[in-house]
Amino acid sequence: MSTTKLIDGKAAAARVLTQVKEDVATLKRDGIEPALAVILLGEDPASQVYVRNKILRAEEAGIRSLEYRLGTDTSQAQLLNVIAELNADPGVNGILLQLPLPAHIEEARALQAIDPRKDVDGFHSENVGGLSQGRDVLTPCTPSGCMYLLREACGDLSGKHAVVIGRSNIVGKPMAALLLQAHCSVTVVHSRSTDAKSLCQLADIVIAAVGKPRLIDASWLKPGAVVIDVGINRIDDQGRSRLVGDVDFDSALPQVSAITPVPGGVGPMTIAFLMKNTVTAALQQAQAQRSQSEAVCLSIY
Ligand code: NAD
Repeated sequence: MSTTKLIDGKAAAARVLTQVKEDVATLKRDGIEPALAVILLGEDPASQVYVRNKILRAEEAGIRSLEYRLGTDTSQAQLLNVIAELNADPGVNGILLQLPLPAHIEEARALQAIDPRKDVDGFHSENVGGLSQGRDVLTPCTPSGCMYLLREACGDLSGKHAVVIGRSNIVGKPMAALLLQAHCSVTVVHSRSTDAKSLCQLADIVIAAVGKPRLIDASWLKPGAVVIDVGINRIDDQGRSRLVGDVDFDSALPQVSAITPVPGGVGPMTIAFLMKNTVTAALQQAQAQRSQSEAVCLSIY
């Protein structure tokens, strides 16, 4: 198996995190201590692992982390109160609400309650709108991580035809917006598309964000395509549980020029970009505070 085709997300995430650590040290020398609050509702085992990993990565990067573990029976009002307190706390720069939420919580309302300046997941409508307008806003972590890997693998993305498979608010839609910003021609296909496979066959770049194990095999791919597999699917493989992507890796490998593995591809990039967003948020908040106090000084004199 050729290893040169492999896009190593673990190594790329380590590079991003090294830079984040250096940026945190620089900010601290300037009196700014980035802090990330993570809210987890309920006992979902996968969410608990994700939260633990996020807290660990934050600590390694020198980011202060605050953990809010709330019971499954937490009401919408109680959750909104916690978010309001964190919004008002100047010592907190980023707020992450771990998804999925219990069924009785309105996800959109909870995400919308987070101060957009602290919205390190980039899910608030102000950030979503800003991204679609090409403004410099906090952007969702997984698609941002995919863009980093693509730029490393392809260099300039301008003029390339990218097909995004999946149109979720978390991955597919922001991914399409970021690819457009990078001057790609973008096609988005989804569960109602009648011609997903034939459109995919035209793509220079394929982003698979479906949630269906090994849906995309070599027959979907143009020779030389670059494939980013966002999917994380747990399957039973001869009595053993293991993770696979949305792409049939073994089938796709001979056909592609580069591909991310699962695990070890996009997954580590998501956390790395959460840390990067936290540092960006801390810097932007400090800058806004300083320019505000300068404005106050000017109005006094
Ligand atoms: P989702 O269920 O919200 O969206 C799936 C999308 O796939 C939908 O838009 C749907 O229309 C589309 N789809 C379904 N069947 C299809 C088909 N046959 N052909 C074309 N499109 C089809 O899922 P999501 O939150 O976007 O996540 C997608 C996958 O990515 C999941 O496996 C998830 O676990 C994974 N994920 C990974 C990371 C990471 O850090 N690596 C982050 C987020 C999500």
